[in-house]
Amino acid sequence: MQFIISNFSFGRYINSWLYKVCNALIEINDSYPFLSYGFDWLYFGYIIIAMFYIEVYKIPIENKWVLRYGMYACILILPTAFIAGYFRKMPILWQIVDCYFGVFGFILLYIIYQKIEALKRALITKLKTNLIMDEIIFGFQIDGKTRCIHHCTQVDVVAIKMKCCNKFYACIKCHDEMEEHQAETWSKSEFDDKVVLCGNCRCEMTVNAYLFLKCCPDCDHEFNDKCKNHFHYYFDP
Ligand SMILES: [Zn+2]
Ligand SMILES: [Zn+2]
Ligand SMILES: [Zn+2]
Repeated sequence: MQFIISNFSFGRYINSWLYKVCNALIEINDSYPFLSYGFDWLYFGYIIIAMFYIEVYKIPIENKWVLRYGMYACILILPTAFIAGYFRKMPILWQIVDCYFGVFGFILLYIIYQKIEALKRALITKLKTNLIMDEIIFGFQIDGKTRCIHHCTQVDVVAIKMKCCNKFYACIKCHDEMEEHQAETWSKSEFDDKVVLCGNCRCEMTVNAYLFLKCCPDCDHEFNDKCKNHFHYYFDP
């Protein structure tokens, strides 16, 4: 900071402000270093918050709540800047600059949020075209959400149409126990066929869409992540 002040000029007002900040830092670090320890944890907090956005990037539809939370934070910047700024005797210009972080942050997050919503809607429109009306889902003791005797936790709501007999089954074990023939798997070229069904809302989705999703694009019901371990029973790996 001393280097910046002695080598660059930003005008009298800013330079005198920078001097003040620089002196404050020197004085605090010399006399009260524990105050700076608070800032270390502040940076730690920044990194922790940023890590949430990595998850948004990885699984946008499921984690879009992080953006919503970010937008609330952006709104809260305004009262914080004015209230804290008033009591800490910050120049009013400085308070307004801080408010701009809230405004631009909000706009940025809102745009990303809308893009995720559009992505979700695009998936819904595509998947909703073929609602199951009178097709039957087979399985042992299946409930209203197509959970069978083998897979009956809250999230086991996916039924899959078998390639061999073109019937929806709650799971491969149900199929093998109810049919006389061997199960066959869908080939990669058929991954755009709608052979996966959400038992909660009965919407159908393609294999490619299913691979991408961790919850139903239509009703948001969570899917069982462990189902991916059984992928090879229904589809070519
Ligand atoms: Zn079959
Ligand atoms: Zn089953
Ligand atoms: Zn659903």
